[in-house]
Parts: sequence; C-alpha cells; structure tokens
Amino acid sequence: MRCPVCKAENTQGAACRRCKADLSLLFALEKQRRRSLAAARQCLIQGDGRAALEHIEDADWLRGDDESQRLLAAAHLLLRDFAAAWQCYRNQHEAKRAGSLPGS
Ligand SMILES: [Zn+2]
Repeated sequence: MRCPVCKAENTQGAACRRCKADLSLLFALEKQRRRSLAAARQCLIQGDGRAALEHIEDADWLRGDDESQRLLAAAHLLLRDFAAAWQCYRNQHEAKRAGSLPGS
C-alpha cells in the first residue's frame, strides 16, 4: 500500500514506515475489499452472477484494478450480458495503456 502522504510503499503495520502517518483505515478498507472479492469469487463458483456483481462493485468502488475488472467481466458473462463484459475488458486494456491501474 502506498502512503498517501509520502508515497512510500508499506506492506504491513498501521503506521507508515517512513513518515509514521496512520494507515490503519486504509488497511481496513483494503481488507474489506479483499473480503468482497473473495465473496464475489464464491458467488461466481456457485453460478450466482447477480450476487457476485454486487460484491465486485463494492470492491471496485473502494479501488478498481485488473482483478476487480476481470471478475466484473466474468460476472457479466455469467449473466449473459456480453456488451457489459466486453466493456470491462476494454476498460481494463485502456487503463493498462494509460498506466493508471496498479498491479497491471
Ligand atoms: Zn508515509
């Protein structure tokens, strides 16, 4: 996680290793996001695209990245909404080209 104050990368702890800014809320949000994505994956496995979509949208709202866009595309495919799935795929590639998505 990148510190919003000094831009140092932090992998653990509630405080930034460099500037000691409190990162506990950011870590909590990141944890919530991971939980939403895990729940979405479970819904996809069970074939419930509608429920998966809700979990993914929660996660994507917190922070969108490759992973959330991929899962979003999968949920739309499951719901047979091919136009929306295609749009997710396009978003992912355009964001990659712009270099705005972390972890890509
Ligand atoms: Zn910092």
